[in-house]
Order: sequence, then C-alpha cells, then structure tokens
Amino acid sequence: MRGLQGDLQTAGFQSEALLAPEQALTLFFARARLLDPKTETVALERACGRVLAKPIVAGAAYPAIARSAMDGFAVRSHDTPAELRIAGEIRMGELWPNALEPKTALRIPTGGALPPGADAVVPIEDVHVAGDRVRVDSAIASGACIVPAGSDMRPGETIVEEGRRIGGAELGVLATLGVVDVPVYTIPMFAILSSGDELVDIRSRPHEAQVRDSNRWALAGKLQALGAAAKHYPIAPDQEAGFEELLRAAIAECDGVILSGGSSVGLRDLTPRLIDRLGAPGVIVHGLKVKPGKPTVLASAAGKPIVGLPGNPSSALMILEAVAAPIVAHFVGARVPAAQVEAKLARPLHKRAGWTHYVPVRLEDAGGVCVAHPLEMHSASVSLLARASGFLTLGETVESVAAGDTVLATRFV
Ligand code: AMP
Ligand code: MG
Repeated sequence: MRGLQGDLQTAGFQSEALLAPEQALTLFFARARLLDPKTETVALERACGRVLAKPIVAGAAYPAIARSAMDGFAVRSHDTPAELRIAGEIRMGELWPNALEPKTALRIPTGGALPPGADAVVPIEDVHVAGDRVRVDSAIASGACIVPAGSDMRPGETIVEEGRRIGGAELGVLATLGVVDVPVYTIPMFAILSSGDELVDIRSRPHEAQVRDSNRWALAGKLQALGAAAKHYPIAPDQEAGFEELLRAAIAECDGVILSGGSSVGLRDLTPRLIDRLGAPGVIVHGLKVKPGKPTVLASAAGKPIVGLPGNPSSALMILEAVAAPIVAHFVGARVPAAQVEAKLARPLHKRAGWTHYVPVRLEDAGGVCVAHPLEMHSASVSLLARASGFLTLGETVESVAAGDTVLATRFV
C-alpha cells in the first residue's frame, strides 16, 4: 500500500504539461473570475499603511496664492534697482489688503503671502535697510524668491495615484487637501487552513513523528507583510469529512483561502479534490514547473482565490511570495513593485533548464557591493528562509550563473 502510494506520488505530475509560474498566473487570472477588491473609507488618522482606492486629485491650486520663499522684502521687480520705502510688514497667515504701491516694499517672512502688485522677494541679506528705507542695488527678476500659486499642486491634478500605500508623504498631501475621509481598499481576509494528520498545535509538544503547525504562522506573517490579514481555521485532518467542512467555512467567510499541505497527487492529497467540490471554475492549475513548490494548486470558487501550497515549509512560503503574491495583491490593491537589488553572486549556480528555480540568498554588504550568497534549497526546511534575506528567480532558459555575475535579488516583503 505504501509502495503504491509512493509510486502514485512520483508518477503523478506530467512534467511536460506543467506551466511556468507566469503562464500559470496568466491562466489563473483569465479563468478565476475574481471579485473586485472591496473598498471603504477611513479617517485620515487611521489611514497610515492602507492602500488608496481612488486617486487623490487637488481641488484647488496649492499654494492658493504666491508666497515668499525667503525672509526679505516683497517688491515690484521693475522698480529695482532702487531705494524703496518700507510700507509695512506682512505677517504669517495674513493677507495684505492693498496693492503694493510703486517704489515701496513690504517686509515679508518665509511663507508669507505675497501682496497684490508684488512679483518678487529680495532676501534680507541682499539689501541695506536704513530707517524706513530699503536699498536694492541690483535688478531683481520677476518671480525671484517666490513660490508661485499652484506651483505645488494644480487644480485637477492627480497628486497620489490609486494603489499607492499611504505613508507619511501621502498623509501630508491628504491633510493639506483636507481629505479627512480617505478611500482605501478593505484589508482582505485570507483563511489559513493547514492540513495533515502529523500536525499539532504550537502549544502542544509533538512526539517524534509529529510537527508543530508552523506553516500557518509563517503564511499568516507573509500575508500580513503583503497587506492582507489571516483568519485561522483548525488543523484539517487527512480525510475528506472534517477537511471539506473547514474548507467550506473558509471560502464562505473569507476573501480567499490559503491551504497548506495535501496539494500533491498522492492518495492522501485531498486539497485539489476538495477544492473542486466548491464550485466553478475550481482547480485551474495543479502543478508548476518550479523548484521548490511543484505541487501547487491555483484555484477559485465564488470569485475567491484558493491557493493550495505544498506542506514543506520552505516551498509553501516561497510560493506564497514568489508566485501567489499577485493574487493577494489583487485584493490588497497595492501596485508596489517587489524590492529588487543588484548583487554579485558569491558562488556558481547550476539548474535544470526549462524550470524556474527560486534560490534563497543571504545578502551581504561587502564594502558598498551587495553580495548574494545562495543557500542550499531544502523544501522541508523550516529555518532556511529565516536565514535568507531574499531570493533569486532563475528563469526557464537559464542553465547556470557564474560566480561574480550580477544577479537581481528580490528582498522578502
Ligand atoms: P504535504 O505537502 O502535506 O505532503 O506535507 C509535506 C511535509 O511538510 C510534511 O511531511 C510535513 O513535515 C510538512 N508540513 C506539512 N504541513 C505543515 C505545517 N502546517 N507546518 C509545518 N510543516 C508542515
Ligand atoms: Mg500532508
């Protein structure tokens, strides 16, 4: 019986039929009929870290009128050079009521509103003041030392794009424009469902043949880093009854489901079979031409994605980040490219042509040069990715990379 199961497992995937990750994702998005991401409005005070669901457009010119860029004197440029009468002092936050008269100047602070008639500011260090007179020795160009109206934001101009994660700079714009109710994408909730009879809760002490269910925490952490949230479901057994029940609850209650384990083609690999019972289109991709992570399932039902990850810890986490991240991103709404860094490869790498390899690397700053140290891939390792800082994606056509070659490493989110 064991022999039969083993044979089925290795005989299962037809390598020639497997898709590269990009092709698999294209097929998935074409067939999955995913729901649109949800949106909501949050107070500006709670918007940090969220993803903007609508572009932020300036409703009016900013600044509303020209301001001084220096401490000095507001002047009419064509009066200069000249000795001008100081007609008064503009204060911060105040509008000067009258037009600046010919041959006069007004004291103005940095950021002060330029009075009508003035078109330039002469910095205090460039003039000579005596009593109520100020002497300007050179010809001042129109527009000198002023911040023109609308020079920061023009009315109707899109300032922050939809899909941008809101941080300090974006909050500054929202606050300036008075956008106190911010349209954001709702943080999607992904169900996490680990399956396997060998799994025990993290607070239990496993005997030698058991393992703590670490994947759910690893996957939940990665989901959070990708901008999603995780809802934990109990450990599913390697039998249809209890497993199917949990899966049905997960798809009903969450925006998507991430499964760990049971995704291969063995008799006890229930994930693909149970997913197909949830509705159309069901399993779209089963098996990827990648290492690690071949036994991956991409599926959907009721407009919600279902990702079946292999139980091997390094494979599960790597596939979630390297392959399934765009599926999560569809609901998160963020259009943030992965952080990539150029590095020199520390030792040569050889791989199987036709396959995509994800190679974990430890990145080291060697005196201003980033060096990528490849780590040996062990799918079953729990510690591997915690020792790495990112990974290399070696595409189908690559067969080897020489030591010292420049490679593009993707930092983990
Ligand atoms: P499977 O993909 O179900 O064949 O699982 C492959 C291996 O991954 C198992 O033998 C376990 O050692 C390990 N594994 C599966 N699920 C988990 C999990 N939730 N946490 C940690 N290790 C797991
Ligand atoms: Mg299993």
